[in-house]
Amino acid sequence: MNPDASLIKFNKAEFLSGKQIIALETAKDHYHADAAVVWCFDDRFSSALSVFLETKQIKRKDLVCIAGGLKTLASPDNENDRTFVLGQILASIALHHTPTVYLMVHSDCGKYGGLQTFGNDENAELRHYQLEAKRAVDFLTANLEASIKIEPVFVDFTGVWKI
Ligand SMILES: [Zn+2]
Repeated sequence: MNPDASLIKFNKAEFLSGKQIIALETAKDHYHADAAVVWCFDDRFSSALSVFLETKQIKRKDLVCIAGGLKTLASPDNENDRTFVLGQILASIALHHTPTVYLMVHSDCGKYGGLQTFGNDENAELRHYQLEAKRAVDFLTANLEASIKIEPVFVDFTGVWKI
């Protein structure tokens, strides 16, 4: 904390007075996360995420929701982005003792240029994603404790699969 902060006279209630957007009680308990989940922010696959979490019985998750999902770990636009995402996963593990990391990639992802990049060939797309998933897993394996489980998943318009 900024050491000067305690010297400045500041009143929380006064500052927030008249500014409430919603009233909501949130449990203060700390938690252990069941998983860290790197998922593309494409909202078409938000329902798939909900069902996936339920199916895997993941009650507490640390969600790293970023364009491209595992792409930033496999073939990042730049190395800083990859370091940032790794940092998010390491923070999840350090703060919430997270044992498992799920890495998602999905069909028709804008970060890969969509399905059209693969000539609308779903076989070519999935083959590419299989290689990308391996790159992402290799990168994390080299940077995480061996006890952390890493599982890539593929999502398309009909379901979610291990890859
Ligand atoms: Zn996407």
